[in-house]
Amino acid sequence: MSFVFEPEPQVAVPVAGSDQSFPVRRIYCVGRNYAAHAREMGGDPDREPPFFFCKPASSILVVPSGATVDLPYPSQTQDYQHEIELVVAIGRAGRDIAVDAALGHVWGYGVGLDMTRRDLQIKSRDKGRPWELGKAFDASAPIAPLHAVAQVGHPAVGSIWLDVDGVTRQRSTLDKMIWSVPEVIANLSGFFELRPGDLIYTGTPEGVGKLERGQQLHGGVEGLGELSLRVV
Ligand code: MN
Repeated sequence: MSFVFEPEPQVAVPVAGSDQSFPVRRIYCVGRNYAAHAREMGGDPDREPPFFFCKPASSILVVPSGATVDLPYPSQTQDYQHEIELVVAIGRAGRDIAVDAALGHVWGYGVGLDMTRRDLQIKSRDKGRPWELGKAFDASAPIAPLHAVAQVGHPAVGSIWLDVDGVTRQRSTLDKMIWSVPEVIANLSGFFELRPGDLIYTGTPEGVGKLERGQQLHGGVEGLGELSLRVV
């Protein structure tokens, strides 16, 4: 096959403690998956079915462990916000996956940020328009190296946290998710065939907030490493 120009390189996330990488296919994100965050966004924390949006694979920004990566402040926003999230990495294809079979489709886990132009997201939401301008921009999906299930199991209760300039902004535990990882996979796979390389950002706890240029972000999920970035 000859292309009319050189294709973009395959987007990939490094695997912690390995020279291998996880090739990224699609990025799915869960909206409002912690009750206290649903409330702070003006929503109903009741157990409505989960809802989803997507980011392109090209929005991935790899944050190697031990490094502080520049996070570009995006255009067209005055309200750029952080959302720290547990990320699920899918390793086995499936559709209409049952809840009790869902974890068998998981290759591993990581920690990521669902970066958001909150002003544009809310404007879209309130007008019933799509969320891409608020959610799917370049570098909107920072992610730390992934950990295989074989190394870390299936984290479901650990802490999840984000500090900005050394001050805690978000701090919760994974058991506070409204929809668990198996439930998210089961529901999502009813709409899309999940394929190896898919990532699922599973939603953020309360404490989301605005960022300014020059601020330092430092966050993590217990057992899955940490990530550090600086808004530039
Ligand atoms: Mn989110």
